[in-house]
Amino acid sequence: MGLVVQKYGGSSVADAEGIKRVAKRIVEAKKNGNQVVVVVSAMGDTTDELIDLAEQVSPMPTGREFDMLLTAGERISMALLAMAIKNLGHEAQSFTGSQAGVITDSVHNKARIIDVTPGRIRTALDEGNIAIVAGFQGVSQDSKDITTLGRGGSDTTAVALAAALDAEVCEIYTDVDGVFTADPRVVKKARKIDWISFEDMLELAASGSKVLLHRCVEYARRYNIPIHVRSSFSGLQGTWVSNEPQGDQKVEQAIISGVAHDTSEAKVTVVGVPDKPGEAASIFRAIADAEINIDMVVQNVSAAATGLTDISFTLPKTEGRKAIDALEKAKSVIGFESLRYDDQIGKISLVGAGMKTNPGVTAAFFEALSDARVNIELISTSEIRISVVTRADDVPEAVRAVHTAFGLDSDSDEAVVYGGTGR
Ligand code: ADP
Ligand code: ASP
Ligand code: MG
Repeated sequence: MGLVVQKYGGSSVADAEGIKRVAKRIVEAKKNGNQVVVVVSAMGDTTDELIDLAEQVSPMPTGREFDMLLTAGERISMALLAMAIKNLGHEAQSFTGSQAGVITDSVHNKARIIDVTPGRIRTALDEGNIAIVAGFQGVSQDSKDITTLGRGGSDTTAVALAAALDAEVCEIYTDVDGVFTADPRVVKKARKIDWISFEDMLELAASGSKVLLHRCVEYARRYNIPIHVRSSFSGLQGTWVSNEPQGDQKVEQAIISGVAHDTSEAKVTVVGVPDKPGEAASIFRAIADAEINIDMVVQNVSAAATGLTDISFTLPKTEGRKAIDALEKAKSVIGFESLRYDDQIGKISLVGAGMKTNPGVTAAFFEALSDARVNIELISTSEIRISVVTRADDVPEAVRAVHTAFGLDSDSDEAVVYGGTGR
């Protein structure tokens, strides 16, 4: 008998009907002779609504109580899903992240999983139950407080449980038919990918393709857990993410895997920094001490007359306030003139292992952006990715232009988006 882990995202369990539909699908997997562990997200946009609510009582809610609040969303869906399964005549038990043995560090709002001890899940399975686990949450090893894994963290819960339980596959059910060459909400002509390597998927996820969370792909690669991303609304095969394609999984010899975009970041510019050794170090030390992860960094050439330069970096908008506060506090030590904060930016990334060996990709990328009259503010590259920062308003047009320029447009059907609000 095989063991499968299935994860259902918020749009798949958005209402009572959705929960009943998903329950049927889970029961089918059980009837096919599998042991089934289900990881479930909060219903629809519940997490966003809880955040809005928290912001109404406190301007910048974070930390312990914020995590307590947010984990309530997944508790609701896990219990309802277990009830719906029982109603179909099958045994199911729901578990919080803590009960399922998801042990994390103690960084609230973006905790990392450090161990998974799924003893209670094993027992529930051995007793013939379907085990339903609340995604996106765990318990801190040190403080014993409840933690959350960061937005979209249910994907990581699913892969971590799949690894701990030695599952054959981790199925991620969502509101599109798999991983596409671009977000189907933006590019109607996006093409479904049959198989993609961990390497390319990691880069797409890191660049903002939220269909899979970066950390979840990292985890899957480390423990070699194949992921099957598919729709909970259709019976179609989705996208396999793994080391090597298996069986009849089609591999296209494309140079480019896809185009990702991200409008969740902001840009901070530290203006008038003395151009001498140690300045960048003290700026980024202040940011690191505030536990903020940054993305791109650019330092301008200093003006000869003043010996001053500007340093810009991008970071999640949610960390913007914290970063500005941290830099203001360190202003006298660092010695810059002022700070600028811009949250109307977007990032567009072109990803593909083929670009390592194909000259001209960068030129074609910039030409496509230029033809679309999109202005570029920052550039960064890795071996298999080129990213640019532009105005947020330019992002949809720019993504479509690049997608077309690299021949990624599908010549058959339009990509289907079955649900969700894209929030
Ligand atoms: P869930 O609620 O199931 O976790 P998410 O909203 O987190 O769903 O992720 C699914 C969404 O990811 C899709 O609706 C789509 O808009 C978006 N997305 C972004 N990039 C891609 C891509 N390359 N392929 C498929 N979906 C993508
Ligand atoms: N409910 C959480 C969120 O909206 C976690 C998840 O859906 O993966 O971010
Ligand atoms: Mg998600």
